[in-house]
Amino acid sequence: MQMSVVKIGSVELGGGSFVIIAGPCAVESPEQFLEISTFLKEIGIKVLRGGIYKLRTDPTSFQGLREKALEFLPELKKKMNLPLVSEITDPRQIERLDSSVDCYQVGTRNMYNYELLKELGNTRKPIILKRGFSALIKEWLLATEYILAGGNDQIILCERGIRTFETFTRNTLDLAAVAYIKSRTGFPVIVDPSHAAGSSDLVLPLAKAAKSVGADGVLIEVHPEPQLALSDADQALDFNGMRALVRELTTAT
Ligand code: PEP
Ligand code: MN
Repeated sequence: MQMSVVKIGSVELGGGSFVIIAGPCAVESPEQFLEISTFLKEIGIKVLRGGIYKLRTDPTSFQGLREKALEFLPELKKKMNLPLVSEITDPRQIERLDSSVDCYQVGTRNMYNYELLKELGNTRKPIILKRGFSALIKEWLLATEYILAGGNDQIILCERGIRTFETFTRNTLDLAAVAYIKSRTGFPVIVDPSHAAGSSDLVLPLAKAAKSVGADGVLIEVHPEPQLALSDADQALDFNGMRALVRELTTAT
């Protein structure tokens, strides 16, 4: 079994270090994204996230800044000098996102979008492939083959919780899947405790559990004023919460 190391910018995933990717659920304005990324850089975060095209369950809710974000992101990124992960929801966005995004995220709703996966296979950017919320591990791994078929082997898997009978936790975080991926495949795997928990107070314990079980990193949602976030307000960590998470995950053994 060949273990792969995938780079986002110059940051390696799967090489033994635990990588914290963080940022807002959605890029809401140049000011909001600059404030969050400046703070994250100060506390040592090396990879940013931020949604540009949001896939929301409710069509009347905020769908992301979309093309508007692409007007200011390239310049803002130059200033921050940190790589950015953002979700791609349609193959037509590949060209548009090229200069703003360093790693394409395929969201849970699109894991089965094989035409999108095939197109991403033809790019040479790293891909974070989230697990479909009802996907078997087998289906998740088969989805990687659509990307691999185009010659792109820069794949990072992301466990973000699956739908079960439980409702108090938004999705059930399947940590066994993380252990399985680590022991039976060569893919780097990260965990998204924010979307799994749906609640900010559960993010830290789940992130610690993810590290214990062998994940290569976590994907965390942060907002300076979570209650005002335009999407996923309940699960965003505020700056104090984020500082605490970084402290715990970088000092804990
Ligand atoms: C996200 O990361 O913002 C997101 C929408 O995640 P998921 O696809 O896991 O719901
Ligand atoms: Mn979100």
